[in-house]
Amino acid sequence: MFELAFGGFIIDTPGIKGLGIVDIEKEELSHYFLEMRALLPECKFHNCQHLKEPSCAITKAVKTGRVEEFRYKNYLSMYHGDDENYRTVDY
Ligand SMILES: [Zn+2]
Repeated sequence: MFELAFGGFIIDTPGIKGLGIVDIEKEELSHYFLEMRALLPECKFHNCQHLKEPSCAITKAVKTGRVEEFRYKNYLSMYHGDDENYRTVDY
């Protein structure tokens, strides 16, 4: 397991694929992105999925750079269950 400078870990273990995504409810996905989690109370709707909802703190933060765009894209890929994309992130 490697700690990343901007927070978070990479687990590089054969056999771990998908990082247990199937066990995470879509509604809870943003809780696993720590910088997004901090912003959740600022979303207008408590069940906001941070896609196209009005007054969403997450999409706003992506625009201002407070949340990295690639992190948000990861979020979207995972949200939509797009395996290929969230495993191949360009840093
Ligand atoms: Zn939101």
